[in-house]
Amino acid sequence: MARLILNPERERSLLRRHPWLFDSAVARLEGRARPGDTVEVIADDGAQLGRAAYSPMSRIRARMWSFDTEEPIDDAFFKRRVAISVGRREMLPELRGRHGLRLINAESDNLPGVIADRYGDTVVLQLSSAGANKWRRAITAALVTATGCARIYERSDTDVRTLEGLEPVTGWLHGEAPADGVFVIEDGIRCKVDVIDGHKTGFYLDQHDNRRLLGGLAAGKQVLNCFCYTGGFTLQALAGGASSVHSIDSSGPALALARANITLNSELPAARAEWQEANVFQALRELLIQNRRYDVIVLDPPKFAPTASHAQRAARAYKDINLSALRLLNPGGLLMTFSCSGGVGIELFQKIVAGAALDANRDARIIRRMSSSADHPVGLAFPEGEYLKGLLLQVD
Ligand code: SAH
Repeated sequence: MARLILNPERERSLLRRHPWLFDSAVARLEGRARPGDTVEVIADDGAQLGRAAYSPMSRIRARMWSFDTEEPIDDAFFKRRVAISVGRREMLPELRGRHGLRLINAESDNLPGVIADRYGDTVVLQLSSAGANKWRRAITAALVTATGCARIYERSDTDVRTLEGLEPVTGWLHGEAPADGVFVIEDGIRCKVDVIDGHKTGFYLDQHDNRRLLGGLAAGKQVLNCFCYTGGFTLQALAGGASSVHSIDSSGPALALARANITLNSELPAARAEWQEANVFQALRELLIQNRRYDVIVLDPPKFAPTASHAQRAARAYKDINLSALRLLNPGGLLMTFSCSGGVGIELFQKIVAGAALDANRDARIIRRMSSSADHPVGLAFPEGEYLKGLLLQVD
């Protein structure tokens, strides 16, 4: 096994169990290693630190598989780690038996670069680092053993793979495409999941708890759902008894799926749903001009700031939509506002929203803080794993 020797003092983050080794921390590689190969990580003073996957193309030069210096990284290792990750969910009553959930949340489940989302008996696997990519076969076999799932589809086509020098890879790894497509059932609502062309692995499982929260406060309300994608929040609001739900997204295919999802759930009042294909930034301004008003508004935009360097431009975008939304709310109305930008922390996000409220001349208070559901844990030593944050505001 090749040896990755660190610069002086650069073992400190590893000793705190952070799984990433940046290029600046690495002094040299002794021996040969190809992308994804396992290397021994050695401190400047010769101390063994553990085993990692080597990524020569990436600024994250290596990701730790194990802090145990003796643990072999082989098929049995992945079988154990995958089983532990799946088992962690089964231990939590709120996740046990859930139809759709994330089974492996990458670094936070001690499997850097590996994401696995379950939709019934279909698992969608996303491998985003050279190390994860190398162990595709072992991870697939481990998932089949741990879950008994009928099929696994690979969606390794995220942009971050290019940073690792990896080509996109997609296709069925186990089983075949189901004849009637892939579905997820969330709190009794059926939702078609486009695992092949949809966002991420096809569905935003991370918003599960917050969609449920909306369902619980929607009765009799006029709801506006911005960035609705395939209608997750819309469906829960209708199921919760909303008097109307107006949903906006710029993606035609996402809206088509959202509409189809209403008809899939025959008990939902389709006539109460209004769909609009538009840019939310403009649409909100037009709604203001038309003097429309709502009791509850959801803002769940895409990532405006992947890293802190984009934070300023992102802040302007967040302020813009939050300002418009606050103006569109009836007195006593609720704003459910999110940011999934890793580059915008909760403190900054709260400041941005507070600035928007000031400019909108609306007094508001936080009645709940929101984050991703329990199947998206955040490793205590891996704060980078935290990205989704939300505020539920009651507006005077
Ligand atoms: N709330 C959704 C997930 C939202 S993902 C759920 O629970 O499933 C973000 C969505 O924003 C995507 O569907 C994308 O098509 C849409 N989008 C991105 N930029 C947009 C814009 N400027 N205007 C409208 N929609 C946009």
